[in-house]
Amino acid sequence: MSESARKDTPEQAEFRSYCQGWLKDNLPGEPPVRLPLTPLEIMTQEQLSYLQAWQKSAYDAGLVGCDYPVEVGGGGRNDCQRVANEEMIAARTPFMPNVIGLGMAAPTVFYHGQDKLKQDVLPRLFSGEDIWCQGFSEPEAGSDLASVQTFAEKKGDKWVINGHKVWTSLAHFAEWMIILLRTDKSHKYDGLSYFVVPIRSALGKGVTVRPLIKITGETGFNEVIFEDLEVDDSFRLDELGKGWQVAMTTLLHERGAGELQTPRSGGLKSKATHATNTANLIELAQTSYRGGKLACDDALTRDKIMQQVIREEGLRHNQRRSRVPALQDHPMRLPLQNKLLASEIAQDTAAIAVEVEGASASLYLGDDNAPAGGEWPMSYMNSYGMTIAAGTSEVQRNILGERVLGMPKSK
Ligand SMILES: Cc1cc2nc3c(=O)[nH]c(=O)nc-3n(C[C@H](O)[C@H](O)[C@H](O)COP(=O)(O)OP(=O)(O)OC[C@H]3O[C@@H](n4cnc5c(N)ncnc54)[C@H](O)[C@@H]3O)c2cc1C
Repeated sequence: MSESARKDTPEQAEFRSYCQGWLKDNLPGEPPVRLPLTPLEIMTQEQLSYLQAWQKSAYDAGLVGCDYPVEVGGGGRNDCQRVANEEMIAARTPFMPNVIGLGMAAPTVFYHGQDKLKQDVLPRLFSGEDIWCQGFSEPEAGSDLASVQTFAEKKGDKWVINGHKVWTSLAHFAEWMIILLRTDKSHKYDGLSYFVVPIRSALGKGVTVRPLIKITGETGFNEVIFEDLEVDDSFRLDELGKGWQVAMTTLLHERGAGELQTPRSGGLKSKATHATNTANLIELAQTSYRGGKLACDDALTRDKIMQQVIREEGLRHNQRRSRVPALQDHPMRLPLQNKLLASEIAQDTAAIAVEVEGASASLYLGDDNAPAGGEWPMSYMNSYGMTIAAGTSEVQRNILGERVLGMPKSK
């Protein structure tokens, strides 16, 4: 029995046994196509359909949205999402495609939306039938998020949106976008308001989505242009001018605060994809030859891999600390630490793998001779995105230093 299972409440223990039974009988079959490493690189309808079918079946079985109230499509349970996540990870299920919906949009709509909106949008968000995306970043507003210029102007009882969002992951499949908009040009923070916007039904009628191609050759994020898109005032979250405070709810969850409550990653990796973890790195080193001997027999390589094993284990223990109430002195401490460390550890692990592969690392996906299917070089290139998305490592370090540790503000 896992340490976590030993501490289960009676409700959690019963639910855990239910999850184990359900997962045993209902694991999805092998995907018909190669899946991407994370939901942020879903490129084709085939990939999406396979993953959506999985999310829907897990939702119908009660493994998604477990702790949200029944009235908004949740399971009405107490602290059970964590249990479902642990069991999905143990069963090595595919990931959920609606990662932005589950991880960020759901808690934001739940805490700040009107009851009718919650009831209308959350069930299809949980089931994965509606994919959600996040329209925060703009060409001139990334780290300095409060500088967003995409403007919403009130006309009668509607809002008219004009502007340009960028790096919008999953917008090419999304029905809905959570969006930070400027509603008043004379105030920086208090001039922001937060909306949910149905973008798919507005394609070609006020919304244009243009995919961007990454260094890996994948698409996944997009530019989204708004030209006179009209939306209803009922799509506004919280009060006018309170957009910055609502955005903080989203960011806190994006950086990991809600990880235990939402199955954003429930079932991290499919059997069909390649995890950037040290277990796979060790396997690679045990089968790759460098200079006439196995890479795992090289003392320097072994040392580098061991450092990663230690860091990965340290991260795992740090994540467990989020369950200790006495360590919750600052809401950002553990989520920010975890986001910062997880993305940098994954990047270093991928860098060592590429080094172990040597010249073979130039072989890429689709090449039969590529070690591990060519996925390590792709992981390495994608790892840079993970140290930028959800706030760059530099910005995370600033926030940890200034707001958590109380150090003087950087100039
Ligand atoms: C894979 C991926 C997915 C993404 N998905 C989404 C999405 O779905 N929706 C969305 O809205 N956005 C998304 N983004 C955008 C992401 O949030 C921004 O790229 C990020 O916030 C940085 O903003 P920027 O690109 O404008 O860089 P800038 O803010 O221009 O930063 C440029 C450089 O300056 C550094 N810098 C900036 N300010 C400071 C400072 N005060 N102190 C020290 N260094 C600083 C940064 O660390 C960075 O190295 C995604 C990005 C990536 C890579």
